[in-house]
Amino acid sequence: MAPDGSAKQNRTIAIIGGGLGGLSMAYYLKRAGIESFTIFEKAADLGGVWRENTYPGAACDIPSHLYSFSFEPHYPWSCRYGKQSEILDYARLVAQKHDLLRHFSFGKEVAGAQYDAEQGVWRVQFGDGSVVEAAVLVSAVGQLHRPAFPDIPGMQRFAGRAFHSARWDHGYDFGGKTVAVIGSGASAVQFVPELLKQAQRIVLFQRSPGWCIPKFDRKFSAFERMLLRRFPVLYDLDRRRIFWLIEFLASSMIARGLLSRLADGVMQSLARVLMRVQVRDAALRRKLTPDFPVGCKRTLLSNDWLPALASPKLTLVTEAIAEITSDGVQTRDGTRYAVDAIVYGTGFAAAQFLAPMELKGLNGQSLRERWRDGAEAYLGVSVAGFPNFFMLYGPNTNLGAGSIIYMLEAQARYIAQCVQLLQQQDLRSMQVHEAVQRDFNREVQQRNRGTTYESGCHSWYIGLDGRNTNNWVGYMSEYGRRLRVPNPDDYQLIPLPLEVRAARTA
Ligand SMILES: Cc1cc2nc3c(=O)[nH]c(=O)nc-3n(C[C@H](O)[C@H](O)[C@H](O)COP(=O)(O)OP(=O)(O)OC[C@H]3O[C@@H](n4cnc5c(N)ncnc54)[C@H](O)[C@@H]3O)c2cc1C
Repeated sequence: MAPDGSAKQNRTIAIIGGGLGGLSMAYYLKRAGIESFTIFEKAADLGGVWRENTYPGAACDIPSHLYSFSFEPHYPWSCRYGKQSEILDYARLVAQKHDLLRHFSFGKEVAGAQYDAEQGVWRVQFGDGSVVEAAVLVSAVGQLHRPAFPDIPGMQRFAGRAFHSARWDHGYDFGGKTVAVIGSGASAVQFVPELLKQAQRIVLFQRSPGWCIPKFDRKFSAFERMLLRRFPVLYDLDRRRIFWLIEFLASSMIARGLLSRLADGVMQSLARVLMRVQVRDAALRRKLTPDFPVGCKRTLLSNDWLPALASPKLTLVTEAIAEITSDGVQTRDGTRYAVDAIVYGTGFAAAQFLAPMELKGLNGQSLRERWRDGAEAYLGVSVAGFPNFFMLYGPNTNLGAGSIIYMLEAQARYIAQCVQLLQQQDLRSMQVHEAVQRDFNREVQQRNRGTTYESGCHSWYIGLDGRNTNNWVGYMSEYGRRLRVPNPDDYQLIPLPLEVRAARTA
């Protein structure tokens, strides 16, 4: 960063967050020949959600041959779906191999940033009080980073051990304990079957059930690993196969027509057959059968979730929770469940994009204020009034089915080209035209109505105003196509003052 605030010369880039998004951004900047960037990561290590979610059973829901970077696709995964520790190792390998580690500044939590239009720089403030300046600011803080807790009376009163699944207490001995699990989403699906092996009893509080389909996971055999090693093209072929298969399945959520109906039929059949086979008790089946279409909320992938729910060691409670007492959980019908520990599998504050950072753009406009009724951005990447600011995994870029890494790479490639444009054309700033952003979001909202995301269930895809603010409304391939090359006409481009340009060429 320019230490003396000589902002006119400042060509540095500040990336916030060192998860897979930050790594992706760093890689594509380097590939574009840009080295003057720093990744500010608040933790002491990289990896993002794969560093944070260490709960038993944590693993990917997308086959790893697709859930990996296109520039690092040949990794010896042990299983079809990488486990948390493997994904974290993979992220570390990517950082090392591509010389990204030296760009990291760990233990630096960004509290906010303010755009100085006169100087054309972002002034970035950290939690420790320090400030740096950067010509370009990129947020890579993810959508699923801040644990969400329910608002239940008495939560502080509980005298036993209580924690969120993203902050797993590995020192706690569950042996012989009765454990309340609150939530039945994608994380609970992974840790409950594992927890059941340790705890004496689980009381699971489910607000609404989700559709669960089988996870076709297995270990790669030694022979397969040898083949993959000898013929890396097999990785690439498998990646393509998975990509198009998932695009087909995604059509059940985002499209209409024959293909979509066919995909919906496949998903429905998988879910219903799994339920029939794994849950023999008709009353329990009723409790576990959603009243909304597959894909309305995140589809669960597991072969051992439904058997865990049917286990005699697990009590499924569908009655709403009234309060948490010092020794347990009480439901609205007055039933008290005494427990030793509570695990909150209640997901993340996904609708609160970029929180708790406070970003101020042109004329001191607050991003939080602008997004009061729900976040929106052009292509999920740029926001009018916030020049030289870009996002990865921003509004409407999550997927109901697909690899987020694919989306992160599309965004990073796009942003790297924007940075090139800024630098090569000696621009002071670029900001998306308000009208371009408005038209794009009108399209997103209109297409939203045809997706399953807005078909009436309670899910984390839906923001404060009842709209889907989180998910992309099309196919991954469409998103990739639309972000291939930034269109300069979408942006207001402001050149650097003449004297600065002259000084550069002198
Ligand atoms: C349990 C779990 C399982 C998942 N499984 C899948 C899956 O199977 N397939 C899939 O496609 N996606 C999955 N996801 C989604 C996942 O979030 C993305 O795939 C991807 O890892 C997001 O990377 P990211 O870098 O954008 O965000 P994150 O991984 O959230 O990284 C953000 C980083 O920013 C840092 N940070 C945040 N705020 C600040 C700040 N103010 N200052 C400095 N640093 C900050 C954080 O410490 C973190 O390291 C899963 C998510 C979770 C939580």
